[in-house]
Amino acid sequence: MRRSLLAPTLVALSLFCVAAQSASNPPIRLAVDLSDAPRNIYHTKLTLSATPGEITLVYPKWIPGNHRPSGPIANVTGLHFRAAGQELAWHRDPIEMYSFHVTVPAGVKEIEATFDLLSLDSAGGGGLAASSNLLDLNWNQVVLYPDKVTSDAVEVAASVHLPANWKFGTSLTAAQTSGPDIAFQPVSLTTLIDSPLIAGENYRQIELVPAGEIPSHVIDMVADSPAALAMTPDDITAYRKLVTEADALFGAHHYTQYHFLYTLSDVAGHHGVEHHQSSDNSIGERTLLDPQKHFLDAGLLPHEFVHSWNGKYRRPAGLVTRNYQEPMIGDLLWIYEGLTEYLGNVLTARSGLWTDEQYRETLAATAAMLDHRAGRTWRPLEDTGVSVQTLRMLGSQWQSWRRGLDYYPEGELIWLEVDTIIRKQTNGRRSLDDFCRAFHGGESGPPKVVPYTFEDVVRELNAIAPYDWATLLKERVKATSDHAPLAGISGGGWRLVYNDKPNAFLAALAKEAKVTEVMYSLGFELNKDGNLIDVIPGSPAYQAGLGPGMKLLAVNGRRWSSAVLADALQGARQSRQPIAFIVENGEFFKTYSIPYADGVKSPHLERVDSQPDLLTNIIRAKTGTAAKP
Ligand SMILES: [Zn+2]
Repeated sequence: MRRSLLAPTLVALSLFCVAAQSASNPPIRLAVDLSDAPRNIYHTKLTLSATPGEITLVYPKWIPGNHRPSGPIANVTGLHFRAAGQELAWHRDPIEMYSFHVTVPAGVKEIEATFDLLSLDSAGGGGLAASSNLLDLNWNQVVLYPDKVTSDAVEVAASVHLPANWKFGTSLTAAQTSGPDIAFQPVSLTTLIDSPLIAGENYRQIELVPAGEIPSHVIDMVADSPAALAMTPDDITAYRKLVTEADALFGAHHYTQYHFLYTLSDVAGHHGVEHHQSSDNSIGERTLLDPQKHFLDAGLLPHEFVHSWNGKYRRPAGLVTRNYQEPMIGDLLWIYEGLTEYLGNVLTARSGLWTDEQYRETLAATAAMLDHRAGRTWRPLEDTGVSVQTLRMLGSQWQSWRRGLDYYPEGELIWLEVDTIIRKQTNGRRSLDDFCRAFHGGESGPPKVVPYTFEDVVRELNAIAPYDWATLLKERVKATSDHAPLAGISGGGWRLVYNDKPNAFLAALAKEAKVTEVMYSLGFELNKDGNLIDVIPGSPAYQAGLGPGMKLLAVNGRRWSSAVLADALQGARQSRQPIAFIVENGEFFKTYSIPYADGVKSPHLERVDSQPDLLTNIIRAKTGTAAKP
């Protein structure tokens, strides 16, 4: 156990030594004018030291948290380089699109780079970064830096100019504030890019720990309406409990303050991106007001918070890079994201943001989806992480066959299994909580990165509870299989069952996304216009010839609706007759006959009385009773 921690610690120390050695370079001065944010243009101006000759400046390409080359280079417009007011010649590298070669004349010591960022891609790439009333600034989108350097070694003095009367939240420390102009204390490029800023006309800050307590934990909220900021007292209590529960779980923290940046908007893109000392969360405007949206998204802040430990502090070696041009390797994302998904959902229940029943219904929906994932027969889970570059922003057509970012949900099932095995092997004396305390806890202090390998994780698990972890985990992530790993559910004292009672999570999701889902009966899902979103290979719909992209027009001779489809499923149960679907495929129409008579199938977890109820123990609060909604 000692050795497993020592080697990564040395790597972490070396990163920080590089930063310390090179801190004498003059800082890059970065000024971002955000006054045009409502029309999604951020004006950026950088002043950098330079030497005569050709220099290469780069735009961040591999973005932490996205795990892929997602820097929005196509949104960089109006680019100019100048020295003493004179335009400098530049050209883009013909191979590396994120590199700019600039010719610096003799005698020049400093150059200025200006460009406009079209803020059309939010932090997660899921939509606009700003609306009329608010903005999200991710510094990686508005900087250039010298090629080949270590980002820890580059110092940046950043400032922003906000639209009039907007307030802001960030984990950066303001050095000077004058109305809409805020200058921040210089930080390394690594810290700057790790510290996004949100701002808006409608702003509210909520303290999550008593005044004066260190580290401080706050929620900074911006919204498209004042009404959307109305977090209920129950939610405030639950988010305070989230902080105490995370502290009880990990036993130490690796930040000096923590900001949950929380954007509520139907205009700006939705995402959650983790950082050491903050998280950038963007969600629907009425999430705090609408119980259905609240249920669907309650896990977001807990998930991103967990990442401060699992992902930022402890990070797979393949995702630790010197700068933003070095490629990342995603083979351990089933730990980075999968364990975070597991712990985030457990903390959502422990803090009272979900009831136990909401936790179980969500877990049942996850398990059912993965158990019907046809692509698992050809694609090992690990390959979904390795392929994050190509999988991340794909559509939903044939997703079951291709697989999506399954390292999140299937990672959750794997870590549930690990947790139940530890509890059984140690007769309930230890649990995955003990692993987290040992692996992610340690000494509290400022942000730092401690890389790990698969072997480090296995070694630490063995220190908690001896078991053949290496074989089990390799089997889970490197092998293909017909079925999802459900041993954590059965080991937890429950089983996955299907019946005609709607699954609460899937019902809320269907209503919110305006889709009709018959995935576990007929084998497809369709949007409100009848377009088939996906069809599961092997399902009755697939066997009959249906595919995503086709459009359902009628069921048993009647114009389709969710109700007509449900009636047909119920009717076939009695009549045992095939159901007839009239389907439009491009310019062509065809009737498909599906022999299916087993009715609606919705997933749930059912208690197995002969087994101890470990699952309920797992989601029980560690710090007193949770305030259940
Ligand atoms: Zn995550």
